[in-house]
Amino acid sequence: MLRYQSVLAPGVHIAFTSTAEGNLAFHVPDDRDAVLLRRRDLERGLGLGEQRFSYMDQIHSATVLDVDGPPQESAIPTGDALVSADAAHPLAVMVADCVPVVLVGTSTQGPVTAVAHAGRRGLLDGILTATFNRMRAAGADGVEAWIGPAICGSCYEVPAAMAAEAEALRPGIGSTTSQGTAGLDLPRAAASELRALGVAVTESGACTLEDDTYYSYRRDPRTGRLAGLVWQATGRDVHAEAGARA
Ligand SMILES: [Zn+2]
Repeated sequence: MLRYQSVLAPGVHIAFTSTAEGNLAFHVPDDRDAVLLRRRDLERGLGLGEQRFSYMDQIHSATVLDVDGPPQESAIPTGDALVSADAAHPLAVMVADCVPVVLVGTSTQGPVTAVAHAGRRGLLDGILTATFNRMRAAGADGVEAWIGPAICGSCYEVPAAMAAEAEALRPGIGSTTSQGTAGLDLPRAAASELRALGVAVTESGACTLEDDTYYSYRRDPRTGRLAGLVWQATGRDVHAEAGARA
C-alpha cells in the first residue's frame, strides 16, 4: 500500500491499496462476504474506527457527487468522483488500470477532500476539472492531488483511430507503446490537466500492468480492484497505529 499525507492539511491521509489488501470490488468475480471483510479490515487497519469509506458505482462519466453522510448499502451513488466538502467522510475510488486520483484542498472552513476515477472516457470528458471545480465551489483554495497506480503510456495500447481522436481532444495524451504501437498516457494527461489548474501533483509512477502487486484489467479481465483512499484522522493516533503495523 502506498501512503501519503497532505501537506496543506496534515490531518488528512491518502493511500492506494495493492493486491496485499486484496480485491475491494463487488462487481468482479469474488465472494461478497470476503470483500466486505477486506473493506472492514482496511478501515480498521487505517484507524478509521467505526467510520466507513464511501465507494461509488463507477460508469466512466464526468459526474461528480457530494458525500454528506455515511455510506448507505442500499444507495450506492452512481458517478465517477466523490467530494466531501468538510473532509468528514472517508472516500474511495476503485480501479484496475484506470487512473485513481485523490485530491485534498483547504478552505477557510478546513479541508475539502475528493477522489476521482479517470479512465480514457472520463478523462476526455473532463472528470478531473469537474472534480476540481466542485472542490472550488466548496471553498477549496489550494489543492493537492495524488495520481495512483495506473496503466502507463508504454503499456496502454489503443487502436490508432482512438489515439488520434483522444489526441485531437487532449493534445499530449498520445503515446507510443513499448511495442511501437499507438497508445495513450492517461497518468501523464491527468497530471498535466491538474497542474494547468494550479494543483500540486504527486505521481506514484506505478504501472498496474508492469507491476503485479497491483490489479490490472489488461493483464487479467477477471482481476480485482485496488482503491485510492482519503480520510481525515479522527483524533486517534493513527501514526502510532500505522507504525505498530509496519
Ligand atoms: Zn507500463
